[in-house]
Amino acid sequence: RTGACHCHACFKGPQCAELATDCILNLSFGDPTMFESYWLALGSEATTSIPAWQGMSYFAHKHNAFLFVDPYLEQAIRELHSLVGNAVTKNRHIVVGVGSTQLFQAAIYALVSLQQPQAAAANSSTTPTNIVSAVPYYSAYPEVVSFQQSGKYRWAGDASKFQQGNADQKAAYIEIVTSPNNPEGSIRQAVLQDDASSYGSTIHDLAYYWPQYTPITATADYPVMLFTFSKITGHAGTRLGWAIVEDVRVATKMSEFIRVNTVGVSQDSQLRATTLIRTIINGHKQAKMKQKHVKDNGGEEEEEEEEEEDHLVDCNTQQKQWRPFFHYGQTILEERWRQVLLVLEGHSLFNIPTYDQAFCSFLHKSFQPNPAFLWLECTDGQDCHQLLLKHRIVTRDGPSFGASSAFVRLSLLDRDSLFDLLLQRLASLR
Ligand code: PMP
Repeated sequence: RTGACHCHACFKGPQCAELATDCILNLSFGDPTMFESYWLALGSEATTSIPAWQGMSYFAHKHNAFLFVDPYLEQAIRELHSLVGNAVTKNRHIVVGVGSTQLFQAAIYALVSLQQPQAAAANSSTTPTNIVSAVPYYSAYPEVVSFQQSGKYRWAGDASKFQQGNADQKAAYIEIVTSPNNPEGSIRQAVLQDDASSYGSTIHDLAYYWPQYTPITATADYPVMLFTFSKITGHAGTRLGWAIVEDVRVATKMSEFIRVNTVGVSQDSQLRATTLIRTIINGHKQAKMKQKHVKDNGGEEEEEEEEEEDHLVDCNTQQKQWRPFFHYGQTILEERWRQVLLVLEGHSLFNIPTYDQAFCSFLHKSFQPNPAFLWLECTDGQDCHQLLLKHRIVTRDGPSFGASSAFVRLSLLDRDSLFDLLLQRLASLR
């Protein structure tokens, strides 16, 4: 197997090609290794090589040292959003971070720092800002918010409940809106309405607002939007995220957090991310040009174009991988969902959410969302994590997301072989 120098627990043998059928299948993380096969097929096309002298300075840009963002990366990010149409970047600031996990903390720091003096002046309250998100919320939020035991903010759980609590109503809050949501892939809006008697802000975590996961139906336009490279291309190990920020004061405070926390963001990572984003953009532009060319020639493809694609052959399957990245991702995830639904159809043990079709302005077709995770509910209120554990499937349990133990989350982003093993095991549970 390429890309790994030791076998996964579910594989054995010299080439790690034999299935260890009784292995523990751990799908509790959202490790996006599914996309490996795309990049493997592209080969050197998207490889970054960095000369030893490059990127040595702390500062990625001498005129913009404050935001630590490489100007080429910034340009590529803006172009990518403009191509996909999923978020506005015009007149917005781009702040990069070590994954969006760091940016999430930076955004809380920034918003709290700007919000609290205002709140304190108005009602002489110095209570910590409440960080809330509607249940089921991404399991990392409570952990990250509570980790440093800050006196300035605290995890306050379900955003829907917070709105109802009288005592807290006037307290400052930050609502995290994750859309599509992790764990269950729903498209979400803020549940709390800011009014004159509260000091509220929102952070929109749009990690999965890309065409492989959901139809792009509108250009997101919120004060603070977080994106992560981990879920776009699958390069979680590059540890790169970005925030699109409207207010320069918030962007500056976020940069301050990143300066104090990690003194900027790896320039090697930024370079790699730039190459990968450029590869995606070029792939889509070429496909569009090719489509136009074919149309102009009355539907006839030319021989030389066929030849040009020959280097894009999947080393594992020998299949041609000519599709641009988002077309590829959407097709593969759609096929995974088709298989999962087939296995779970009429299953008496589980309930799963249903999703409505929508028209995707980027892929020019209607389809149902294909979330990165399967959010299963065990019928009869059974402890779903324990039930699946008995069948050697490790999940992330409902309570981690503020939900009941009848729910679990399973990653659908793992490599083909492990996804197939999941299907086999779910099928055997019938
Ligand atoms: N937000 C959401 C909703 C996520 O699912 C994840 C990753 N699981 C992150 C943020 C964190 O991403 P990163 O790898 O960039 O820290």
